[in-house]
Amino acid sequence: MEYVFLGTGAGNGVPEFYCNCDVCREAQSRPECRRTRSAIAVIGDENILIDAPPELSSQLIREKITHIDYLFITHSHHDHSAGLGDLEIYTRFHRKEKLPVFMSRNTLVELQKSYPSLDAWMGVTLIEPGDVTELPDITVTAVEVAHCSGALGFILGREGNRVAYLPDTGPLIDRTQEALLGIETLIMDATFWGENWYPESHRSVDETIRTAQSLNVGTLYLTHLSMHYSVPVTCKEIEKLIERYGGQVKLAYDGTRFNLERVARGYTQTPTLAVKRAMTDAIHI
Ligand SMILES: [Zn+2]
Ligand SMILES: [Zn+2]
Repeated sequence: MEYVFLGTGAGNGVPEFYCNCDVCREAQSRPECRRTRSAIAVIGDENILIDAPPELSSQLIREKITHIDYLFITHSHHDHSAGLGDLEIYTRFHRKEKLPVFMSRNTLVELQKSYPSLDAWMGVTLIEPGDVTELPDITVTAVEVAHCSGALGFILGREGNRVAYLPDTGPLIDRTQEALLGIETLIMDATFWGENWYPESHRSVDETIRTAQSLNVGTLYLTHLSMHYSVPVTCKEIEKLIERYGGQVKLAYDGTRFNLERVARGYTQTPTLAVKRAMTDAIHI
């Protein structure tokens, strides 16, 4: 199965329409540095979508994804759910049967305030941390994240072949850390560069790299990047920072794809001194 990043931005998206800083100018001149709001799709005989950001329709057109078979929703915030209207139209007029959707009870309650007709087109299964959903091609395990009430992260696949997607999270709770220990691929919140304004509900680039290091993760993809909040940062600057990790830490871009066969295992051994030193450097960004 192939994984594709539909969007990799935080709530603001890059560039911001009201800004003309170095970051926004970089994104204007280098289209690969533009970031729509975060979601991923898992592409196989059946396609799985995680989250429905405001740019969902254009993201799916860009990636030539023509059908959605399952939707998982991490939480109800605008940047993860404002594309639900597009899925309603797709489901009612084209799919013509309810779309299987998986989310927590709190997320459903919040979404119903903005979308009162959800029940008419979603086949909702309520899930909570620890629940395992067996789909024909893949297993999806929900994990608890520190973000808003009912927010979830997801682990896709089984031992030896797993991808965790945690686009919005503060510090990882113990149970989630246990579930992620030694995971092959971690895709995680890297909203901030520099000071983290919301340390309880988001992570910064350096915090997420340190987390991956401590969990002995194979490959880390940084996603949900604001590139703007607190200290602005260009793609170029982040790429320079992560060079030292020899490919174990990757900066996700809109349209980045990978499949597990091609993912090289990274942190399989005790971190070397060089890596430890690099981690220390990364703290002072
Ligand atoms: Zn978000
Ligand atoms: Zn959020």
